[in-house]
Amino acid sequence: MKNYDVIIVGAGPGGIFSAYELVTNNSELKVAVFEEGHLLEKRKCPIDGDKVKKCISCKTCSIMSGFGGAGAFSDGKYNITNDFGGTLYEYIGKKKAIELMHYVDKINMEYGGEGTKLYSTAGSGFKKICLQNKLNLLDASVRHLGTDINYIVLNNLYNFLKDKVDFYFDTPVTNIELLGENDEGYIVDTSNENYECKKCVVSVGRSGSKWMEKVCSDLKIPTKSNRVDIGVRVELPAVIFSNLTDELYESKIVYRTEQFEDNVRTFCMNPKGSVVTENTNGIITVNGHSYEDKEKQTENTNFALLVSKHFSEPFKDSNGYGESIARLSNMLGGGVIVQRFGDLIRGRRSNPKRIEEGLVVPTLSATPGDLSLVLPKRILDGIIEMIYALDNIAPGTANDDTLLYGVEVKFYNMEVEVDDHLESLHKGLYIIGDGSGVTHSLSHASASGVFVAREILEK
Ligand SMILES: Cc1cc2nc3c(=O)[nH]c(=O)nc-3n(C[C@H](O)[C@H](O)[C@H](O)COP(=O)(O)OP(=O)(O)OC[C@H]3O[C@@H](n4cnc5c(N)ncnc54)[C@H](O)[C@@H]3O)c2cc1C
Repeated sequence: MKNYDVIIVGAGPGGIFSAYELVTNNSELKVAVFEEGHLLEKRKCPIDGDKVKKCISCKTCSIMSGFGGAGAFSDGKYNITNDFGGTLYEYIGKKKAIELMHYVDKINMEYGGEGTKLYSTAGSGFKKICLQNKLNLLDASVRHLGTDINYIVLNNLYNFLKDKVDFYFDTPVTNIELLGENDEGYIVDTSNENYECKKCVVSVGRSGSKWMEKVCSDLKIPTKSNRVDIGVRVELPAVIFSNLTDELYESKIVYRTEQFEDNVRTFCMNPKGSVVTENTNGIITVNGHSYEDKEKQTENTNFALLVSKHFSEPFKDSNGYGESIARLSNMLGGGVIVQRFGDLIRGRRSNPKRIEEGLVVPTLSATPGDLSLVLPKRILDGIIEMIYALDNIAPGTANDDTLLYGVEVKFYNMEVEVDDHLESLHKGLYIIGDGSGVTHSLSHASASGVFVAREILEK
């Protein structure tokens, strides 16, 4: 059986930054990375808008899996903040978390990101304007790499790592076994061979959530799961939001609804971007991204409006709840549904003619339909309230032709019980990134990777 000092499962940002930090600080270490998906250059989603218009549920989703993880074709927005993107600070402290996010940013700059803009809410007049309209603008600095530069950074990181780390692509890890009674090490099983290691870092992201559940159950690692975010992706002419996006690029704004006192928030804002589909465990949901390259930019801005649902006992399957709602939209629309805001508030479905006549040209080919048949009333009411609140700071948001795509679901991995070192109850088995439930963003996931690598190096 081949032996490693450290085996990393998953080559998303968490796994990549663990590997990077390990090998740059100790060139003697034998490190392997196992990844279910392909090498970056082989990652190709078959949807071309021509022959293949909709998700065909590939065996491994090239959007979610492969070198770079779920973030590879993302907008590459690295939010440096403790206000959202995960709760890493609860484990390692706020100061350390921010310090590591800045460190990740520095590496991204060294590997091709130099020259990209770092936006900040600090000193922005929008904070006051938002508060005057019952909206709360959260504090953050955001580095916008853009889909194109993000790809270049990942490619450069791969070229740096490939001779120092053994990469196993298209190799899903099937199981992790304990070696001996006292956590002396781990056996990492794949369908071809098994490998042995002293320390194991698991960073399997959202696409690995079901597998992570199984590993935790097998190894008796406690978990809890109680949150899912459900909502829509809004698409409107970029000029409507340009005041905000020119200054802040991405703004995380929270609105507390009058009717139910639920929090609705903006998420993943993509100025001049495109709306895209996402496949999580066979369920098609919506997302968005944008390019730094002006040639690839569109006339539209998109962002999600999400409502968090926290469940209490006895219900445990919050992701199952989100999946069922997404399945409804898949059932009615064969995938993602698009509806004009004007049609939604008039209680009628959108049809191809109304969409075509509208002022907003959709960037995603979705099925015109009726989101009120999919989203629970409470969630939909909250979203409509927030659209009107946003209309006060960005007039035109509540125009009839504003497009709503549904559904957008943020599945949260169950929270895996880890200690302040991000180590599970088995010594030397670290669970990081989105797969741990601790992080939900590029910057937090990457920072968690650096953090555990330093823990391992120290030990
Ligand atoms: C379209 C899109 C846009 C996004 N945009 C942004 C953004 O702009 N800013 C932001 O902060 N976040 C964004 N995100 C979220 C961000 O990508 C994730 O938070 C981040 O990638 C998490 O990193 P990770 O390393 O924890 O997991 P992932 O990036 O999900 O990587 C996990 C890897 O593990 C692999 N894996 C899973 N199971 C196994 C197994 N059993 N064996 C081997 N390998 C396995 C997967 O194939 C995957 O490559 C976006 C996500 C999507 C899908």
